[in-house]
Order: sequence, then C-alpha cells, then structure tokens
Amino acid sequence: MARFGVQVSEVGGFDTAARLRDQAAAGERISGPAARRALTTAAHTPKSEGRIVPAKFAKKAASFLARDGAVLFDNPGAMLIYAFKRDNALCEPAPDATAPRQYDCRTGCGNTVRTDTRARLLRERADELDQLAASAPGPVNRRLKVNAHRLRDMADTHDTTAQSAKALT
Ligand code: SF4
Repeated sequence: MARFGVQVSEVGGFDTAARLRDQAAAGERISGPAARRALTTAAHTPKSEGRIVPAKFAKKAASFLARDGAVLFDNPGAMLIYAFKRDNALCEPAPDATAPRQYDCRTGCGNTVRTDTRARLLRERADELDQLAASAPGPVNRRLKVNAHRLRDMADTHDTTAQSAKALT
C-alpha cells in the first residue's frame, strides 16, 4: 500500500465499530482481506454511547478489545479501516502493541477493509485531483493525474470485490 498520510481517528475502536455496524446495516458493501473479521469485531465491540467515553468504561473496553488482539482503527486519510491484528500486520508492530504503526503502513497487508462510502470518497478525491491537474504545469499535472488514476483503481477494486454484510457473515 502506498504510504498515505497518517490520519487515524480513533476512540478505542468504538466509533469505528459503531460506524461500520451502521453502514453495514444500511446496506453498504465491504471489501478487503479483513472484511469478515472487521464485521465480527464490530459486532462484538461494546457501544461507547457517543464520542465521550467515560474513563472507566474506556479502560474496561480497552482490555475487551485487546483480549483477542482484534481492534478496529479508522484511517480516513487512506479511506480505509484497519481490522488490526498484530500477527499479520505488515508494519511490524511490537509483540505487545495494541495499535498499528500507520506511519509504516505497507502494501498488501491483510488487515485492511474498505466500505462503499470510502470508495465513493476515493472517487471524489480523484475528481479533485483532476481539477487541480487541469491548471497545473506539466510534471505536476502528470503526477496529479497518476494519483487520481490510482485512487480510481482502488475504488474499482472495491466495487468489483465488495460484498454485503449478509454475504460475509
Ligand atoms: S496493520 Fe496493516 S494496514 Fe494497518 S498500518 Fe499496519 S501495515 Fe498498514
């Protein structure tokens, strides 16, 4: 995977899990090698009751999440969710790590998940890059177009491989 900017939004995995549950329930399809695991993890992640997680609850839930090593992380910058599992993380987290080393994210990791929403955002971003390219000089123009093409390729891969939550579980 290309090294996207690190932009991980995370509140102990609860927001990410809740969002994934809601999106799956609303009929969004999901792609990626960890799609099934992400849905299972989301289904077993307790609700945070919104963005404010009481400290005691957060602690309790953190140990719940750490128990089987599966934790959901949102990376909106990469338009991905990570169903983080230490054993197969290509970013080589420490043996006791509870979070991926996003700054060393690598292509082909088995922890990635993408939703229809994220694929749509990839296309929107690609359109923005094309608009920027239209007024950019030669080399920059080409680089922006290459990036736009890459994002559309990722969205296409999602569209051709994504499955419904029902099909995955
Ligand atoms: S767990 Fe995988 S997808 Fe997540 S940051 Fe590490 S290498 Fe990237």
